[in-house]
Amino acid sequence: MRIPKQVEWILLQLEEHGYEGYAVGGCVRDTLLGREPEDWDITTSARPEEVRQVFARTIDTGLQHGTVTVMLDHTGYEVTTYRIDGEYEDGRHPKEVSFTRDLKEDLKRRDFTINAMALSLDGELVDLFGGREDLKAGVVRCVGEPAERFSEDALRLLRAIRFAAQLDFTIEERTKRALCEEAPRLSRVSRERVQAELTKTLLSAHPERICMVWQAGMAPYVSESFSDIFTGAGGREPETVRRLEERLRLAAALPAVRAVRWAAFLLEMGEDRGGRMLKEFKLDNETIRCARVLIRWFPVRIADDPRAVRQAMSAMDDGLFDCLLEMKEILDGADGGHAARLKLLAEEIRGKGDCIRLKDLAVTGTDLIAAGAAPGPALGQMLKELFAHVLEYPEDNVKEILLKAASDRD
Ligand code: ATP
Ligand code: MG
Repeated sequence: MRIPKQVEWILLQLEEHGYEGYAVGGCVRDTLLGREPEDWDITTSARPEEVRQVFARTIDTGLQHGTVTVMLDHTGYEVTTYRIDGEYEDGRHPKEVSFTRDLKEDLKRRDFTINAMALSLDGELVDLFGGREDLKAGVVRCVGEPAERFSEDALRLLRAIRFAAQLDFTIEERTKRALCEEAPRLSRVSRERVQAELTKTLLSAHPERICMVWQAGMAPYVSESFSDIFTGAGGREPETVRRLEERLRLAAALPAVRAVRWAAFLLEMGEDRGGRMLKEFKLDNETIRCARVLIRWFPVRIADDPRAVRQAMSAMDDGLFDCLLEMKEILDGADGGHAARLKLLAEEIRGKGDCIRLKDLAVTGTDLIAAGAAPGPALGQMLKELFAHVLEYPEDNVKEILLKAASDRD
């Protein structure tokens, strides 16, 4: 098992100052799985003030929760004091945390056995709850009593599903039962946190696992509109869910991009309802904008001739158009060859440098005015018409031709 040099150095400093230090949580899990961890979290017996004394450059990230960020080579490493979470006040945040010098107590407060392992500098794995075994068996299991753990922090309900999706794990029976029983608690979790977990689920290798949120009876507590996705029109729920699952299984082959995965999930809702839901979930505006374009264009049959393709391309930026074609190719099993032909046409159009954006039109408003046109709304209209013409006849995107066309139309 390899711990990065910087992390080793931090653990060594802690030890040399008489404290314990371990890599902990997701990074240990991912390392054991042979995956590259996203970040390395460190847990220590040192109190935050003590951590600040050990290291030259630190940032007070969340002192009341025991977290100090140690800066090394412009990268931050979160070092958090062993802690015991107090009572949870809003189904999410512990009212108070208390620090402890006992690693065991810190591991006990963690959500799942696979996330509750610690790794020391010399490679010793501290695994008090059978995390390694669960990793081998591919199981998500709560540390301790599942119902209790979910009632402390309802976000864990969605985290269980998210890890099952990311790791292709099953959820252990008692943990799964508690998901159903504790589902109502989800309504108290903030939209942003819910969204972050749902997004991670959709971006994972098994986006179809998002249907577990429905199957566990959690969807109505996420939101009414979220629940609507699964019920479909006219109470055809089992069919809707099956169709959704099937589509999302295919969606695993799509780029792991928020707008794409959310759009694949929300296709049936249509642009407006889908867009409203994303807004409700507080997704960023750019993601919402792109998802709306994809939902709008997905059902549109684009003829495989260059004119139609240029038309469609002009309605969105290049990256988004490529995503749209991927969605058509992968999700619309009816005619994969069609999407492939559209792709070829798009490549040709780009290769030739055909004008598909108003900004690439060979004339500007200034050119038209210089040629005698009056400034005003009619000028904008003229530019639009010229652009529409060029989309059809790209060879006409030449200043002289367009100026002449403009004067002919006047
Ligand atoms: P990733 O970073 O890949 O999303 P992770 O396991 O690192 O996965 P984080 O949310 O970064 O997840 O949390 C780091 C660790 O903190 C977890 O591995 C877990 O031990 C603990 N943890 C995080 N959130 C909770 C929670 N809601 N309840 C209990 N423990 C948690
Ligand atoms: Mg993490």
